[in-house]
Amino acid sequence: MKLLEHEAKTLLKKNHLPVPNGHTITLSSDLTEVPFPAVVKSQVPTGGRGKLGGVVIVETLDQLKQTRDTLFTLPIKEFLPQVLLVEEKLAIEKEYYLALLVDRTSSTIRLVAHRQGGIEVEDNNASDFFNEIITDNNLHELAEEVAIFLDCPVVKLSSFIQDLYDAFVRNDATLLEINPLIYTSKHSLVCGDCKMELDDAATFRHPDWDFESTPQNTNFVTLNAEGKVATIANGAGLAMSTVDAVVDRGMSPANFLDIGGGANTESVMTAFNQIVAFPNVQAIVINIFAGITRCDEVAKAIIEAKKRIPSLPPLFIRLAGTNFEEAVTLLAVENIPTLKTLDECLDAAQEALHE
Ligand code: GDP
Ligand code: MN
Repeated sequence: MKLLEHEAKTLLKKNHLPVPNGHTITLSSDLTEVPFPAVVKSQVPTGGRGKLGGVVIVETLDQLKQTRDTLFTLPIKEFLPQVLLVEEKLAIEKEYYLALLVDRTSSTIRLVAHRQGGIEVEDNNASDFFNEIITDNNLHELAEEVAIFLDCPVVKLSSFIQDLYDAFVRNDATLLEINPLIYTSKHSLVCGDCKMELDDAATFRHPDWDFESTPQNTNFVTLNAEGKVATIANGAGLAMSTVDAVVDRGMSPANFLDIGGGANTESVMTAFNQIVAFPNVQAIVINIFAGITRCDEVAKAIIEAKKRIPSLPPLFIRLAGTNFEEAVTLLAVENIPTLKTLDECLDAAQEALHE
């Protein structure tokens, strides 16, 4: 289970590790109390946000509002954030890389470190990393070695590594990566960013685990990243025939998606988030034959998505089955039309496509 940065930082804080002061926001959050300068960070389950514009420093309330609006519609490697993290801006003196991870081949935990952390860390040679097995017994010795390697005061790093190791073990983590570990101009260590993965098999002993986890439809298949028509259907058979029908009309389907029997607001929102990451999609065909799925749930999700994703391509919707009437009424109030058959959807989609 991959945690979002803000979830990981909440766990770190509980384990006495230093994290920047901050909180998450949505589109409707009150921003008047935010101190400046601040850092705004897109909460997506992937790294490399800095390079893709997902981490922005803001100096004023106006800049913060503008950045909020931009980040909520900026896909980062196919993900759109549900929340943003707003944190105090730290004055950085140095950025280190420090990680703990399970080494499955040797059944041990490894500590990996690099003197130059930050967004370019992948460019370093593997041989330039400090990489040693860490255990209950060698913790202190190892901390001294890492401190020398990083050229960082031993006292500070030693207790940090102890706490990090405790957090890792206590939370049944398989990966806990702090990048950057920030050495501030006030000579303290702060976890600038955190990537954390937890062992799913340990869920039974953590009743408190309640994370967004990675919002992704597992039955989402990319067929053609350049495709112009995206599809959402429920049931594998209907999803496949929807894709086939798109192809029969000479159009290029971007994806296959079976949102499953229990499609709800969340899974439909996630589907839209995955779809808007495709650069060329000009039409979304939604083909729902509802049994367990309820059409009104799908309709609510569509309405929500239209509000939250301004760049959403036109929708061509055919709904049938459970709570169909309620759905049509809900959509009509928002001026979102529905069509009677898949054929009608495809006709309309074809007309909407431009070269
Ligand atoms: P990532 O690109 O997804 O790994 O996002 P990070 O959270 O690691 O942020 C990327 C980069 O933004 C960091 O390496 C820093 O250089 C910069 N950054 C993040 N937070 C701060 C901050 O509080 N102050 C300053 N000056 N830079 C920051
Ligand atoms: Mn990072």
